[in-house]
Amino acid sequence: KPSLPEKIDYVFKVVVIGDSAVGKTQLLSRFTQNEFCYDSKSTIGVEFQTRTITLQGKLVKAQIWDTAGQERYRAVTSAYYRGALGAMVVYDITKRVSFDHVARWVEDLRAHADDSAVIMLVGNKADLAADKRAVPTEDAVEFAETHRLFFSEVSALSGGNVDEAFFRLLEEIFSRVV
Ligand code: GDP
Repeated sequence: KPSLPEKIDYVFKVVVIGDSAVGKTQLLSRFTQNEFCYDSKSTIGVEFQTRTITLQGKLVKAQIWDTAGQERYRAVTSAYYRGALGAMVVYDITKRVSFDHVARWVEDLRAHADDSAVIMLVGNKADLAADKRAVPTEDAVEFAETHRLFFSEVSALSGGNVDEAFFRLLEEIFSRVV
């Protein structure tokens, strides 16, 4: 069956930020390709990946940007944030320090991105919660409420909650811009 050209109604740029190794690249490939790649960092240098979804009958192309390792040198540039309508600030629920740095990432975002950008706090690696959790869910809920962020715990590995988190963010963007 020949595929018809898609007529995209909207393109939403979403940036994924957070400390190195929290699972940003894996979240991106889970959402855009439904894949988890154990041999990570194969996507280094790739700027963004896309997935087209339907929201209220409109075709929305989500353009999800990956830092591609820039965050290791705290060199995420303002160009990266430019035009972003949404952001996922990711930490690793097994690494307390990655959660402690979330405030800095939110500051960075607020300094460089548009004020109206929708922000979602995401605790990744929820599959390890039983033995290795270092960040209680309540701490993240409290932070999210204080800073008025959406919040979700997800697992790029199992895929649990990943689509739901991205959809919630994209639906919120949709409701604000359309
Ligand atoms: P990034 O530096 O933030 O882009 O992190 P990566 O996506 O490269 O992931 C860092 C490491 O965490 C890799 O070894 C991944 O396999 C692992 N990882 C990523 N997401 C998950 C997850 O949901 N669960 C588990 N257990 N490991 C994950």
